[in-house]
Amino acid sequence: MLLVIVAVFGLAVGSFLNVVIHRVPRGESVVHPGSHCPACGHAVRRRHNVPVLGWLLLRGRCTDCGVRISLRYPLVEAGTAALFVAVAARFGWSWELPGYLYLAAVAIALALIDLDVMRLPDRIVLPSYAVALALLVPVALVDGDPAAPVRGLIAAVLLWVLYRILGFFQMGGGDIKLAPLLGFYLGWLGWSAVAVGAFAGFLLGGVAGMVLLATRLATRKSRIPFGPYMLAGAFLAIFAAAPISTWYAHLISI
Ligand SMILES: [Zn+2]
Repeated sequence: MLLVIVAVFGLAVGSFLNVVIHRVPRGESVVHPGSHCPACGHAVRRRHNVPVLGWLLLRGRCTDCGVRISLRYPLVEAGTAALFVAVAARFGWSWELPGYLYLAAVAIALALIDLDVMRLPDRIVLPSYAVALALLVPVALVDGDPAAPVRGLIAAVLLWVLYRILGFFQMGGGDIKLAPLLGFYLGWLGWSAVAVGAFAGFLLGGVAGMVLLATRLATRKSRIPFGPYMLAGAFLAIFAAAPISTWYAHLISI
């Protein structure tokens, strides 16, 4: 039941994320005006504004001018629903669930904006600190367990320092501002999540960089956005830090 509710909620959030991904880098409002075709400016009719189904009904074209509507819109909606379901399966009916669903939504928006324009907008990253604290800190008060938020804050500082140091070499300013947010979320879960999340981010980014170089999709001089790999690494840790750290501990003890 939880998973069905969260899936439907994820589709609706995904629909809003499409607006965020398109408008935030352009400095536009995410509320006004309502959804409209970027080519002809006609408002999207209500029945076509339903996530995924709307795109299928339109067969991927605007009813007014016939311009193609990117497949990315329904994919973002379905992808958000899928990630929400995975997060709900991981946390169940818990007080932490809203905080981690919020991170999932922010992660999808930031990853795609970074791929599009190589930026992690302050307009999304900075308010997320307030939202994360507001959603998670009361959980510790309810549970009477101050360890999680304290660990989260220490991990936030550690990742900030790490990215600050790397910033002298290659990390962008946006990456440095995002790192403590991920540190807080991972630290909340435990130190193995912090270690796995940080390491997985660099590993995924490094592998992707090598693949792009090998396939000549990038040259040594091109900038490769790192945000998507930081976020993917963090989610890998959220879902699998425990088995990964057990496996690694086993590996080094051989
Ligand atoms: Zn149109």
